[in-house]
Amino acid sequence: MLAEALRELEEKVKTMAEELETIRRYVEQLEADNASMEAIIRSKNMQTSGKANLRALFDAGFHICSAHFGESRDGDCLFCASLLDKEALHQKEEQ
Ligand SMILES: [Zn+2]
Repeated sequence: MLAEALRELEEKVKTMAEELETIRRYVEQLEADNASMEAIIRSKNMQTSGKANLRALFDAGFHICSAHFGESRDGDCLFCASLLDKEALHQKEEQ
């Protein structure tokens, strides 16, 4: 009985260690994303407007929509696309 409880406990600890490793990798990924995003913002800030910053972030593979802002983008996002459409319209109006 005790041996069985110990086995279960070992199993739980193993599962938790695996989950922790997954979370650790996720955090590393987020930190890397954050660092490259900051670098992009810093390099663009000097010469471009906020709208262009959004565009640059989007082009670099990040979401610019409010739903997922700053997250890595896998392919297209309808929210981002509609935001960029809006920006494009604004730019036409300004010209
Ligand atoms: Zn998006």
